[in-house]
Amino acid sequence: MEYDIIIIGSGLGGLECGAILSKEGFNVCVLEKNSNFGGCFQTYQRGNHLLDTGIHYVGSLDDGQIMNQYFKYLGIMDKLRLRKLDTEAFDQIHYHGKVYNYAMGHEQFVDTLARQFPAERENLKRYVNQLKEVGNLISVENLRQGVIATEGMRYFCTSAARLIEETIGNRDLQEVLAGSALLYGGIRNMSTFYGHAMINNSYIESAYRFVDGTIQVSHELIKVIRANGGTVLNNAEVTRIVADDTGAKAVIVNGTEQFDAKRIISNVHPQRTLELLDKSRAIKNAYITRINSLPNTYGIFSIYLVVKPKTLKYNNFNVYLHGNNSVWYDRQNYPGHTTNCMISMQAHTADSEWADVVTILTPMYFEEVAEWADTKPEHRGERYRLFKEAKTRQVLDFIRQHGIDFEPYIESVYTTSPLSYRDYTATPEGSAYGIIKDYKCPQVGFVSTRTKLGNLYLTGQNLNVHGALGVTLTAIITCSEFLGQEYLAKKVGNA
Ligand SMILES: Cc1cc2nc3c(=O)[nH]c(=O)nc-3n(C[C@H](O)[C@H](O)[C@H](O)COP(=O)(O)OP(=O)(O)OC[C@H]3O[C@@H](n4cnc5c(N)ncnc54)[C@H](O)[C@@H]3O)c2cc1C
Repeated sequence: MEYDIIIIGSGLGGLECGAILSKEGFNVCVLEKNSNFGGCFQTYQRGNHLLDTGIHYVGSLDDGQIMNQYFKYLGIMDKLRLRKLDTEAFDQIHYHGKVYNYAMGHEQFVDTLARQFPAERENLKRYVNQLKEVGNLISVENLRQGVIATEGMRYFCTSAARLIEETIGNRDLQEVLAGSALLYGGIRNMSTFYGHAMINNSYIESAYRFVDGTIQVSHELIKVIRANGGTVLNNAEVTRIVADDTGAKAVIVNGTEQFDAKRIISNVHPQRTLELLDKSRAIKNAYITRINSLPNTYGIFSIYLVVKPKTLKYNNFNVYLHGNNSVWYDRQNYPGHTTNCMISMQAHTADSEWADVVTILTPMYFEEVAEWADTKPEHRGERYRLFKEAKTRQVLDFIRQHGIDFEPYIESVYTTSPLSYRDYTATPEGSAYGIIKDYKCPQVGFVSTRTKLGNLYLTGQNLNVHGALGVTLTAIITCSEFLGQEYLAKKVGNA
């Protein structure tokens, strides 16, 4: 049998493409290498506890906002179990011994920070207006006019750190405004204002957590695909993309079975996609060299603390803890130290006042785990176990030094490192967010949804902005290659 479209990978990008294209009448097949679907949107279970792997909160989900509109079009918005984070403080930035709140709503965001930095009120307004300008490039209104995103290249060419420094006078406030940089792999001399603003603006609009795990998004999207006649298979690793000079023809699954398709979309990192692809004159060596040379963001070391029942109050906000350290992560200073982390809590139910799991994320470059590069999950040996244990102690000590002590509440501990992400989601060196977009050379890091092999397309976090919002936007752009931009944008905008 020949599918209209085969999609490699069931991350958010792959499943969204599958849902959109199956809704529009294409016969799609999504192939996932793991037994769990969802990529970074998967949740794993330990006992009664749900541990989310790559999503801790999502923005712009209020009625009329962009993610809500996308999910409404996809047919899943009313199925999701969500908890809105505290409107007065959805994120807390801990910096230089003080706590600063990010409040929801643009005016409230300014008012809240202006209480601690009264002289900066007007500058804060200017900063927030610039965030809004970027956010409006992908507004629901644009969709209704038949436009997915208006052109924002000048924001890709703008340094996030520099724009903040030029807009805001106070040095502490400059750091506070970049305080959630971990969320986008923020690097001072690379991060674009586009990425910074798209993500921050979205959370300022509204910020939500998933109750019962982010896997629910993956399951709902799979239901949509199957209801529309599509196929979604797990334990189906694409080991080769069969192609000649004229196009891609099929994929080989698990080294044995051939699945034919008219077109193929890869939700896998472009570098990995090219490794799977047969040699074809359509794909020039220069393209392969460029893709392979693009640097990726750092990885994340995640600690999951399962909490003793009803002992620790649930915080309906995230904490970004920086101590006296810069909020931007410099590769040279990093290995071996813990200088920054994010803390996020999960409760059992939408109204529970008790924390069930505390997740702590801290950046980690691949060098730190390179010693175990040749190992596989569950078989990395005793030294690796000891390494993770020592790192966990170091992170918990860092947190304790800043007045937060989880030790008395811990029932059990689980950890993941960049190696886990490399092996589960196939990102090079376990990078958390994929290809870095560098404001100094945005064109170089920009990877198109189209490849020179006419019927092979790309989607996912590496192409545009990462995260739930960026990946969704890219899925719409990928699918508009088949459906036409104006048609699809209007359909989403008027859903
Ligand atoms: C620790 C962490 C925390 C994060 N927190 C947030 C957050 O709070 N909010 C937010 O918006 N974003 C967050 N993100 C980012 C967000 O999770 C990702 O940007 C997004 O989910 C990526 O989706 P994707 O579809 O591009 O790729 P992925 O989720 O990486 O999916 C790729 C899929 O392809 C599959 N695959 C790979 N190779 C093959 C093959 N050969 N054959 C078949 N299948 C294959 C993989 O198994 C995987 O399922 C976080 C990321 C990390 C790592």
